[in-house]
Amino acid sequence: MSLDTETVAAARLYGVCDYYDAESLLTEAERRVLGRLRSFLDREAKPLLAEYWERGEFPTQLAQPLIDLDLMEPGDLTGAGPDRGAARGIYQGFRIFELARTDASLATWYTAQAGLFRTAIRVGASSEQQAEWMPKVIDFSLKGVFSLTEPDSGSDIAGGLSTSARREGDSWILDGAKRWIGGAATADVLAVFARDVADGQVKAFLVDRQADGVTLEKIHGKTALRMMQNAHITLGGVRVPESRRLHNVNSFKDVAAMLRAMRSDVAWIATGIQAGAFEAALRYVTERRQFGRPLGSFQLVQEKLARMLGNVTASLSLVVRLTEQQAKGIYRDQDSALAKMQTSLLMRETVALAREVVGGNGITLEADVARFHADAEAVYSYEGTHEINALIVGRALTGESAFAR
Ligand SMILES: Cc1cc2nc3c(=O)[nH]c(=O)nc-3n(C[C@H](O)[C@H](O)[C@H](O)COP(=O)(O)OP(=O)(O)OC[C@H]3O[C@@H](n4cnc5c(N)ncnc54)[C@H](O)[C@@H]3O)c2cc1C
Repeated sequence: MSLDTETVAAARLYGVCDYYDAESLLTEAERRVLGRLRSFLDREAKPLLAEYWERGEFPTQLAQPLIDLDLMEPGDLTGAGPDRGAARGIYQGFRIFELARTDASLATWYTAQAGLFRTAIRVGASSEQQAEWMPKVIDFSLKGVFSLTEPDSGSDIAGGLSTSARREGDSWILDGAKRWIGGAATADVLAVFARDVADGQVKAFLVDRQADGVTLEKIHGKTALRMMQNAHITLGGVRVPESRRLHNVNSFKDVAAMLRAMRSDVAWIATGIQAGAFEAALRYVTERRQFGRPLGSFQLVQEKLARMLGNVTASLSLVVRLTEQQAKGIYRDQDSALAKMQTSLLMRETVALAREVVGGNGITLEADVARFHADAEAVYSYEGTHEINALIVGRALTGESAFAR
């Protein structure tokens, strides 16, 4: 059934935070799936967020119901059966936006599987390996995480990666350590990137989380993304069969191809966080009164609302256009680096303005902006810091690599 213009307007999911109506690019079926996600988040997730953020724990009771929503490749969008097609990029983007608009940890948790791990398999696995693993990735029966960063190497991981892989017959022996790995404690497998001692190239392995020699420690005391669990992983003589090596990862270039896809997802997260913070701030200034009038009636508050809306709108326009380019098969490092850099920069300003117009209550969890304000700092730094993404763009503009001097 096609909806007339009035019904579509009434059914709009994103209201004011999608000022230029980017959601009109979605099909009715896509909006129905996103509407299902919205109802679940409003009903089941929102009431838990402040409490679990403060406790520094993930609300594990949300995990299975979120998986059951079948959001990664929903049957409604792709048909049923093993050869069902892929959901469109614009839907995938809005799915991330919707999650992040509610909570950055929920978006990061979902994207660890649907973005990071899935991309590792899509780009890194051979077609035979993909045939075996991908259906399990999509229905979460094989949960995985992306283990690239190390204690001594973050931004310089391409050259600095020091976890080693040594071939021994039909197996590999891994030694080293990984840091910041999101969702590792509940994963079945860790996609671990290690340097082959024989040829010096980076390769990738699916390591059982419970394999001998794997130790996980939770990173405590975080002031951002407190609900999301990150691990410090130690690998001591871990044996992995050759069949668990990702056969299409033969150098860091293959890892860079993965990062390209992941940075676009993070740009959508940075956009969703802005939308959530802006909406909470707008609600607050409409309700709260000072000097006998709503806060939102003051000129200086309206200027901040306009800047926040400008940032959200610019970010959404940017990620939508990036997604359209990618749908045409145009993937360049500098494109997703630019989107991650710019949306994160705008995100930092938006969440600070949102916090500011809520006054003292803006640093409490109750008013709903403090969570976004704190969590934004983690998103600002992960998947390439501001500087590293700027350097990727700078290299493309000038032909000069300025990473190390
Ligand atoms: C919450 C969270 C979740 C994460 N999840 C994962 C995950 O699941 N898997 C994973 O593999 N990794 C993960 N990471 C790691 C993340 O990708 C790194 O934190 C990031 O790449 C930055 O590395 P670093 O923290 O070591 O900072 P560093 O590299 O030490 O950088 C510190 C500062 O120096 C700057 N800097 C570094 N080099 C240069 C240069 N050449 N020029 C100018 N400035 C420079 C940086 O921009 C930054 O401001 C996560 C991180 C966080 C915080």
